[in-house]
Amino acid sequence: MKHPLVAILATVTAVAACSSGGPRGDSNVGRLIGRVVPFMGDTASRASHSAGQLCGVAGLQGKPVAPITSATNGCGVAAPVQVTHVDGVKLSQPATLDCPTATALHRWVTEAMRPALGRASASVTELRVPAHYVCRTRNHRAGARISEHGKGRAIDISAILLANGETITVAGDWSDSKYSRALREMHTNACGIFGTTLGPGSDGMHENHFHYDTAQYRGGPYCR
Ligand SMILES: [Zn+2]
Repeated sequence: MKHPLVAILATVTAVAACSSGGPRGDSNVGRLIGRVVPFMGDTASRASHSAGQLCGVAGLQGKPVAPITSATNGCGVAAPVQVTHVDGVKLSQPATLDCPTATALHRWVTEAMRPALGRASASVTELRVPAHYVCRTRNHRAGARISEHGKGRAIDISAILLANGETITVAGDWSDSKYSRALREMHTNACGIFGTTLGPGSDGMHENHFHYDTAQYRGGPYCR
């Protein structure tokens, strides 16, 4: 342990997040929870960090954090960052991601979310993020492959908050809402920015949030 004084072990609590309807009593889930060791960072990991800028992207705010290791094979992030704001929009919780995924999120906000919302885009204050880094299997299934969430390559988004107090939710506004078209458009246009895009209608596990990750597939992006 390099920094014993600051090695505060923080258990990632976002377990229930991605598909909160995941099987209860799945003892593997608890076993797979990764543990993050936040520390002050060394010079190398801070090299790419200048005021208000992360991963070399002007609109990304946050800070680099220490490499995340895990006893679970397949989990961990070699060079994680903790993103707090994307293009001026606050994340409901700091999201631990790798730089390619943080950069993709910034592209999605600026190239997909904002254009889809049109005039309302100027009043977006916050994105609700139910899950980011968490060491677990896909859809919490025992024996399944490690989720992209366990590699820092995935983020879930469940709602968009506006300055006037409105909350646009994936669960409530996907159908029959004045925001339905915008939600569908921003989700469609996430394809290609991200390697995987899932949402309502994908597989029954993503009815209340968008799942975006930067997995790469030989056949091109997987968008459902
Ligand atoms: Zn997800």
